[in-house]
Amino acid sequence: LFAGGTDFLKGVVAMDGLPPSDRAEVCFAGRSNVGKSSLINALTGRKGLARASNTPGRTQEINFFTLGESHYLVDLPGYGYANAPLPVVEKWQRLLKQYLSGRANLRRAFVLIDARHGVKAVDQEILTLLDKSAVTFQMVLTKTDKVKEKDRARILTQVREALAKHPAAYPEIVLTSSEKGDGIPTLRAIVASLA
Ligand code: GDP
Repeated sequence: LFAGGTDFLKGVVAMDGLPPSDRAEVCFAGRSNVGKSSLINALTGRKGLARASNTPGRTQEINFFTLGESHYLVDLPGYGYANAPLPVVEKWQRLLKQYLSGRANLRRAFVLIDARHGVKAVDQEILTLLDKSAVTFQMVLTKTDKVKEKDRARILTQVREALAKHPAAYPEIVLTSSEKGDGIPTLRAIVASLA
């Protein structure tokens, strides 16, 4: 875990609310229900830190956490809600674009992909945005405990093929299960290494 612990810092709805860029920062993105809250909670060892159910109607905030004394962890709102009103989606996309293109201390984005489903059309928008913003992103497969051993290779091939189309992609894929704890220490070590 991270020395000094992990704490919620603030929720941000506009660029002028961002904390100072005085720490290395990593952000987590993924479609709703991908297991992002569970992963952040497992990563930080704090159950209930990231809200386990993000409701579609909730304000679209970028949530900042302090990770030990050296990093910020940023929880980007889940995307892919079918019924979100267009103005809400547009406001959110604007903020996301501004954040990704303007955050000097952002070291890496982790894009969460459900290991059962692979990279879907709904994920393409954020991947393209990360390319355009030149933010290196790394794929994290979630819920690997739900995937049979024999299906793993096929899914990994699909994810690798999707990654090959994106210049900002970091080649190594992290396989995780928040339920079993698989891959969590690996992910923690990667985050800690991004100084
Ligand atoms: P979020 O909307 O992306 O924050 O997703 P949540 O963390 O709330 O998880 C969505 C659902 O997937 C919940 O029912 C979780 O219990 C379940 N879930 C999350 N991670 C895992 C995992 O590693 N394994 C399994 N089997 N279920 C998981």
